[in-house]
Amino acid sequence: MSARVAITHVELRRVHLPLVTPFRTAHGVETVRDVLIVRVLGPDAEGWAECVAPAEPTYTAEYVDGAHDVLRRFLVPAFAAGEAAPVVKGHPMARAALEVAVLDAELRAADRSLAAHLGVTRARVPAGIALGISGSVPALLDAVERHVAEGYRRVKLKIEPGWDLVPVAAVRSRFPDLALQVDANGSYTLAAADHLGGLDEFGLLLCEQPLADDDLAGHAALARRMHTPICLDETITSATVAADAIERGACSVVNLKVGRVGGLAEAVRIHDHCRARGVALWCGGMLETGLGRALNVALAALPGFTLPGDLSASDRYFHEDLTEPFVLDDGHLAVPAGPGLGVSPRPEVLAATTRSVETLDLRR
Ligand code: MG
Repeated sequence: MSARVAITHVELRRVHLPLVTPFRTAHGVETVRDVLIVRVLGPDAEGWAECVAPAEPTYTAEYVDGAHDVLRRFLVPAFAAGEAAPVVKGHPMARAALEVAVLDAELRAADRSLAAHLGVTRARVPAGIALGISGSVPALLDAVERHVAEGYRRVKLKIEPGWDLVPVAAVRSRFPDLALQVDANGSYTLAAADHLGGLDEFGLLLCEQPLADDDLAGHAALARRMHTPICLDETITSATVAADAIERGACSVVNLKVGRVGGLAEAVRIHDHCRARGVALWCGGMLETGLGRALNVALAALPGFTLPGDLSASDRYFHEDLTEPFVLDDGHLAVPAGPGLGVSPRPEVLAATTRSVETLDLRR
């Protein structure tokens, strides 16, 4: 347990971190990660968290300017007013950031680590890596080779119509024993079921979110037609939806992301349900800085996480991480052991990357 601490200020800070590998979006290529950092402060308290909302509403409806706005105008005032369950609908990434920042403050005040709070059973977690759509098979093979040599324990390939069977076949042919999986981000329809069935021969761990996020029936139908286990990401927005998807046979694997489900408490509920039902679980990634990575690594050390997550070392994403960098050790990342998240922004990096700071005074 963590004791309540008095919070008098909430700081909403935007930092711009240059990305090592540009991230392709629907509208172009992002070379910088525009991150909303939430910091809560009190007379005897300080807590940090990262809002994982991306710059554009292309993963889910959430985007960083919207998350910033809903925190400033609704979520922080509701928190200041002591509302136990905010009446604000949606905006799970914004809600999760405030929840985690407050929890971090409580745990730091109690000198207790997040890992101890969660009751995790492991000191380190295996690291996987996700590779975007490069459009070039030789470039993809080079990237896989480089990351396998670095020690990554599992590789995930993004796929979409026009970039699926050929690159997956090439990677499987070159790396016969590699733990390999694919993620379609909902880019197919059930009409592609026969085509997607072509993935079955490659011995994949799973096929993630092949269909639209609201298509539970479609995923259930596809799961009956494919041998490759179906994993859901965007679909799983709450423990209720997770239970429904599992009950309907729409997935046999779940990708868990704290931001997508509205917080750590909800993530733990999903973990517990999946574990009880024998549903495989792994931790997804949202190009987090070290703050979000610390949260993910601690969560992924829970016993229900049976598959390697999209948990990469800091240098996969950033030339300079906000916190002390997470480094790969024998293909694993260490679970932070310090109070709270166990990591804090480095003052000099924070100062150099901050673009704006807004401080909300909760006493007014
Ligand atoms: Mg995904």
